[in-house]
Amino acid sequence: MALINENYLKLPGSYLFSEIARRVEAYKTANPEANIIRLGIGDVTKPLPEAVITGLHAAVDEMADEKTFKGYGPEQGYDFLLEKIVEFDFKTRGVDLAIDEIFVSDGSKSDTANIQELFSQDTKIAITDPVYPVYVDSNVMAGRSGTLGADGKWSEMAYMPCTAENGFVPQLPTKKVDLIYLCFPNNPTGTTINKTELKKWVDYAKANQAIILYDAAYEAYIQEDDVAHSIYEIDGAKEVAIEFRSFSKNAGFTGTRCSYVVVPKEVMGYTKAGEPVEINKLWNRRHCTKFNGVPYIIQKGAEAVYSEAGQQQIKALVAYYMNNAKMIREGVASTGIEVFGGINAPYIWLKTPEGMDSWAFFDKLLSEVNIVGTPGVGFGPSGEGYFRLTAFGSKENTQEAIRRFTTEFKL
Ligand code: PLP
Repeated sequence: MALINENYLKLPGSYLFSEIARRVEAYKTANPEANIIRLGIGDVTKPLPEAVITGLHAAVDEMADEKTFKGYGPEQGYDFLLEKIVEFDFKTRGVDLAIDEIFVSDGSKSDTANIQELFSQDTKIAITDPVYPVYVDSNVMAGRSGTLGADGKWSEMAYMPCTAENGFVPQLPTKKVDLIYLCFPNNPTGTTINKTELKKWVDYAKANQAIILYDAAYEAYIQEDDVAHSIYEIDGAKEVAIEFRSFSKNAGFTGTRCSYVVVPKEVMGYTKAGEPVEINKLWNRRHCTKFNGVPYIIQKGAEAVYSEAGQQQIKALVAYYMNNAKMIREGVASTGIEVFGGINAPYIWLKTPEGMDSWAFFDKLLSEVNIVGTPGVGFGPSGEGYFRLTAFGSKENTQEAIRRFTTEFKL
């Protein structure tokens, strides 16, 4: 008899996006003429930058010729891409990394979900609340969560609320934890923390032999100077932090798939006997065993992001979405609703009006002005009373959504 991993049965199901789809479908059936604008999901809408397309085409042609054809590549990624990453994403910010500290992969979703495999079953996990759900669910599957309480919290996880009351700055945990998931700029709140706050986490991790899992998927959206683009800009972080980067949101790779993880050799985990072990070696072992590399063609597309034209084009892409973010921020704020985020991130997090919960606001927005957003409570208990709008739509749709929001929406 094949016994299953019963931890999977603990997962409540992907309630959030299926429930959104159900409500939108029901509304469309009742109102077939409604012109619905979706500012809900975190997917990009603009095509790949021209430089990337050129890189992809050239690589396709190489695959057609016996002399340049590529079969299996290095699991960790080709040197041409690793060298660009080290040079452009880190050296320019004063961070020295070796290419064997970078692992190219097919997405930060898989990377952030898989990293927990390296750690023991009784590892104590800390997450910010609200949170990108992958960090939580992957640990539930692994059996580290305990049970789900009526308050929406897993009994064995440490929650660090990020709300308007604390300025969306997570406070250090009161119980000792071993693995800390941080994501800045943050999905879903669209807020971030400055270098001084981030330093407190690095210091905590050092003092407690903890490791920070730092998701920087939205790094390209940072506009303010006192925000770190990489956690390694913080003194001491190379000893205690693993960083996740993705080409999804800076270069439109959500459907093309390419990302990377930085695992500095200084980062140590420990055996039960207290012996330090390089996490880099473990991750390399895992990666080579379970992954056969990102396609050559895709890595050539990613390499083109670092060309002069590529750099200009991704800047323009980010500016396009950030212009939408500004429109949403200012438009929503002009109605008297409190807004957060949208300055260093493509997400706007708004406070639902007094007496209205996240789902009630969702229904009202859908039925009155045909706009779809995401109820904050879907990202964790501290998201209740908040709502997420994304800047990833087209400029025209965003303009129209804000016109409706400011002229037709009745608060
Ligand atoms: N991390 C965060 C915080 C995200 O919001 C997302 C996607 O929305 C990802 C990771 C996934 O990125 P990728 O497309 O590289 O899998």
